[in-house]
Amino acid sequence: ERFALPSDDAELWLFWPPDPLCACGIDATTLRHATEANLLGVSYQPQIRMSDGAVAGFEALARWHHPELGEVSPEVFIPLAEKSGHIGLIGAWVLRRSLAEFGALAGSCDTRLAVNVSPLQLRDAGFADLVAGCLADAGRPAAQLELEITETARLGEDAQTRRTLADLRALGVGLALDDFGTGYSNFATLAQVSFDRLKLDRALIAGLPADRSVRLIRAMRHMADALGMELLVEGVETVEQARILRDLGCDLAQGYHFAPPLVLADAVTWLHARGAR
Ligand code: C2E
Ligand code: MG
Ligand code: MG
Ligand code: MG
Repeated sequence: ERFALPSDDAELWLFWPPDPLCACGIDATTLRHATEANLLGVSYQPQIRMSDGAVAGFEALARWHHPELGEVSPEVFIPLAEKSGHIGLIGAWVLRRSLAEFGALAGSCDTRLAVNVSPLQLRDAGFADLVAGCLADAGRPAAQLELEITETARLGEDAQTRRTLADLRALGVGLALDDFGTGYSNFATLAQVSFDRLKLDRALIAGLPADRSVRLIRAMRHMADALGMELLVEGVETVEQARILRDLGCDLAQGYHFAPPLVLADAVTWLHARGAR
């Protein structure tokens, strides 16, 4: 069944199965209360262009502030939402909220907003229309939005997914393959689907500056060139990693070295402080 797009936060209701979904004490009721109490949020992490250090964009990352447990990781609640069938609702909420908030960050006209999308959302025949509607409501051009797709087991084999990706392309939305090099984000996907950007998983650069890692990233750089993709490396934590990646010709980088994910107000402050330097 198709999910209805909540017209505002107050209308975002999630009906989870009543049984506990997770051993860590997070269940249907607590997540439903979270949405009622407006405890879901979005943080923004800058993506830096290596050639000149400019802020190329921000990645929107879903956040859940649990009254007792504190921050619940999206690595916990996104898979829960995927299992219970509510990922479409949460995904639509993140898309709408981040596009609405993005006005405060989109100072320079080519700053991009990257939003994570579950492959399950791509299987919804209404997804491209949903994206178009959210863009129109926020008054943002499609070129300013990039969708990061991960966990791409057999992404290219599902007919509806291929149609959705083609519709998103026609709309002018950018597509990034997330977490490349781990799990299901693999070469077979690259052979089947064209992406604007390749995001190397942080596991691939954790070894830097070891020579083996340098060679691996150089090879990824060549592959991205051959397929006409920009290369973004995530999880950059040290000044030395940043320097090596710049020398290797990586287009973009993201990580704690530049900034952690920030709530909107902090992201605005960070952007202004950076502009003032
Ligand atoms: P991702 O899309 O690969 O996002 C990058 C993750 O790496 C984020 O974790 C970010 O906080 C973290 N990170 C950033 N820089 C560094 C660094 O320098 N070092 C280390 N160790 N980590 C860094 P986060 O926010 O916990 O999100 C985890 C994952 O949850 C995301 O991985 C994404 O797959 C998923 N996710 C988050 N929000 C959404 C959403 O709205 N929709 C969907 N479908 N998935 C989401
Ligand atoms: Mg991502
Ligand atoms: Mg990633
Ligand atoms: Mg990830």
